[in-house]
Amino acid sequence: MVNLQTTDVDVMIGLECHVQINKLNTKLFCGCSSDYHDDPPNTHTCPVCLGLPGALPVINRRAVECGIKVALALGCKIQEETLFYRKNYYYPDLPRGFQISQYDFPLATDGIVYLEKDIKRGIRINRVHMEEDPGRLVHKGAIEEAKYTMVDYNRSGMPLLEIVTEPDLRSPREARQFLNKIRNILEYLDVFDGDLEGSLRVDANISINGGDRTEVKNISSYKGVEKALLFELNRQKNVLRRGKKVEQETRHFDETRGITIPLRTKEAEYDYRYFPEPDLVLMRLGGWIDEIKESLPELPDAKRERFLREYNISEIHATILTSDVHLADFFEAVASRIDPGICTSWIADVLKGELNYRGIKVNRIAKEDFIELMQLLVEDKITDHGAIEVIRTLLDHGGDVKEIVSEKGLLKAEIDETEKAVNEVIKEFPAAVNDYRSGKKEALNYLVGQVMRKTRGRADPEHANRLLLERIEE
Ligand SMILES: [Zn+2]
Repeated sequence: MVNLQTTDVDVMIGLECHVQINKLNTKLFCGCSSDYHDDPPNTHTCPVCLGLPGALPVINRRAVECGIKVALALGCKIQEETLFYRKNYYYPDLPRGFQISQYDFPLATDGIVYLEKDIKRGIRINRVHMEEDPGRLVHKGAIEEAKYTMVDYNRSGMPLLEIVTEPDLRSPREARQFLNKIRNILEYLDVFDGDLEGSLRVDANISINGGDRTEVKNISSYKGVEKALLFELNRQKNVLRRGKKVEQETRHFDETRGITIPLRTKEAEYDYRYFPEPDLVLMRLGGWIDEIKESLPELPDAKRERFLREYNISEIHATILTSDVHLADFFEAVASRIDPGICTSWIADVLKGELNYRGIKVNRIAKEDFIELMQLLVEDKITDHGAIEVIRTLLDHGGDVKEIVSEKGLLKAEIDETEKAVNEVIKEFPAAVNDYRSGKKEALNYLVGQVMRKTRGRADPEHANRLLLERIEE
């Protein structure tokens, strides 16, 4: 008997990730535009994606191509022949009464994804299959109290990929790392925008010490997956601690309360009566697979290895820089002009830190501006402190590097000049200094004014203020 108080339990987590291929122009089986995220409800629909009787689906070739790309990037084996099925169930967001999905003969199987290169254990991918997204239900108010619910079919028929892992993940944290890795790979392939609402939905199953597993359905954020699994892990530990058995069941994650609640037990599992979709033919992918393989871009793991080799940077920096394809491109553009020995930490540590703090992406700062700033550092014209100030200003207000530097008096020469002026003013106006020391705070404004006069307005008043205080309070 394992002592749960002192010994960590064995955790097995598997994920089913539904990712929306949202950078195509059209939906999976019709010509409706897939660029609906900012538009009013039900404005991107047609008889096919509304599921009207007699409307026939036509497969979107580019969606299949994207599916193959993703599966290849996840190390999967692409099936030479693949087939769509009808998954039968009724729900208001699925007016046709069945979802076109895959079952036997999925697009791809047997992949592997490494969380980090130095962790040799890979997460096995069981399968990758294609399906259509249903519509979206919008409840008026909180779901329990909603007087009515509206349905928006803009999302109906969007291409989804379902990525199913083996239960190889060992902690909620690893589950989140895995999702970040998947997102990273999809963004490298340029088929996915992870910031769009509904771009990722996850069903997560978890069991401990080889017991029955529970499945948490429909979690819609990266953080949410980790939170739901943590809650579920502790709940299961408590069940065992009380000497009971974890029941196999499906649970729902209440994101606002951060808890999971029972949805249904095993006996109540649906039978979807899968059968091959008669309106779509078997797809023979054959020679197309090699063609697509050749068109794949450099992926995160390969880019990381190359950065280590080419730029002679640390493992941790290489991991940070390649964790986002846009950041990696940004780094390469800067490193083509500035010694990587200098710019790497400025991008991977300083800039990335400022971006994370603001919750924004690297596209908010122009490469040219950053290179210009790095040049000032290389030429020793600006202090580290000054450079950080410029980065913050660029991110918060935009602007021109030279103008920011001159407006804020950040050039080293100007800083020296301010320091000199401060020292002179303190010597020349001892009465004002004494006034300040004896409690007349307004005397400081007078002294700042004198510094500004001496530097002919070139000093940064805030900087002068700070320096004066430092000297006076010494
Ligand atoms: Zn349509």
